[in-house]
Amino acid sequence: MSIKDLEHKRFFYKDHKFPAPAKPKIDKTVREKVYNKFDGRCAYCGCKILFHQMHIDHIHPQSMSHFYDAEPSVKKEYGLRGDNVNHIDNLFPACRSCNNYKATFSIDVLRKELEEQPRKLRVQSIIKLCERFGIIEIKEKPIKFYFETIGEHDER
Ligand SMILES: [Zn+2]
Repeated sequence: MSIKDLEHKRFFYKDHKFPAPAKPKIDKTVREKVYNKFDGRCAYCGCKILFHQMHIDHIHPQSMSHFYDAEPSVKKEYGLRGDNVNHIDNLFPACRSCNNYKATFSIDVLRKELEEQPRKLRVQSIIKLCERFGIIEIKEKPIKFYFETIGEHDER
């Protein structure tokens, strides 16, 4: 199974031979730098987050660190080694919701997952009914993350 296959699934260590990587404590100086990357906003949805509530997201998931080492093509593509997934360049500030949903997904997979939600929601009859009555509105649109809009606007 390649990393490309794994990216589309939630990664559970129990399903693989690899041990969970140690989670080194990220010191306060690094946390502050991560927090200030987007002026105290979540890199994905752009909501304001308080410093003590910030989750630190690994852009390239920490769970894949074994694969960054194991597959040269992946290492080249991601520019990562297993031992540097905790480098500040690989860390984004995130709100709890975004970080929990992204979990072990890459950014591209997170985007695809979110873009598929309207279709998945409409499978539920109550959602279809609520749409028909005009009490909810589901929009299908390409997902653009907050960090991709920097410079386009100042306020959200
Ligand atoms: Zn968020």
